[in-house]
Amino acid sequence: MSGLLFVLSGPSGVGKSTLRKEVMKRCPTLKYSVSCTTRPPRRDEEEGVDYYFIDMKTFEQMKERGEFIEWAKVHGNYYGTPRRPVEEWLKEGFDVILEIDVQGAKQVKENYPEGIFIFIAPPSLGVLEERIRRRSSDPENEILLRMTNAHLEMQSIRDYNYLVINDVLEEAVDKLRSIIVAEKCRIR
Ligand code: 5GP
Repeated sequence: MSGLLFVLSGPSGVGKSTLRKEVMKRCPTLKYSVSCTTRPPRRDEEEGVDYYFIDMKTFEQMKERGEFIEWAKVHGNYYGTPRRPVEEWLKEGFDVILEIDVQGAKQVKENYPEGIFIFIAPPSLGVLEERIRRRSSDPENEILLRMTNAHLEMQSIRDYNYLVINDVLEEAVDKLRSIIVAEKCRIR
């Protein structure tokens, strides 16, 4: 039997990675697909754990060879989900979780309509802006770009199967874990 594909999206700064990492502690067989990006690493990021940091030429080559399930330009950088590990895990029966933006999720939905699409939203855009400003030392124009994109991304909520509002982290983790557990019990 093949595994389930969970797709997490939501505006940058909403806490997707924290949520996903917490859920993975509770669902230890869940596999996380590490994305490729042309964005330079942040201070606390590790190659092969947070992302595969690659240059534009490598990204283009991988894209041309069809090595991404999906790819997108987000906030001026390129991101893509490597095809091989995801396909192999699913075939082996492992459940896989992707953390990607809404453009990428749309592409995944075309190719994996049976995927489970989960949108993580902030309690409000005001709270999101506070969180982004608190966590990052990004220049003002980047913060504004992230906020504009957040506004646009929130308009895609209806394309998802589930909505989790990340207000109190523990509660959001519980909800996400419950979705995963319920989907695993679903009769298909
Ligand atoms: P960040 O640079 O803050 O890590 O990520 C920026 C945005 O890119 C986030 O919304 C994140 O979910 C998204 N992202 C990360 N990896 C991928 C990917 O492989 N594909 C797509 N389409 N988006 C991604």
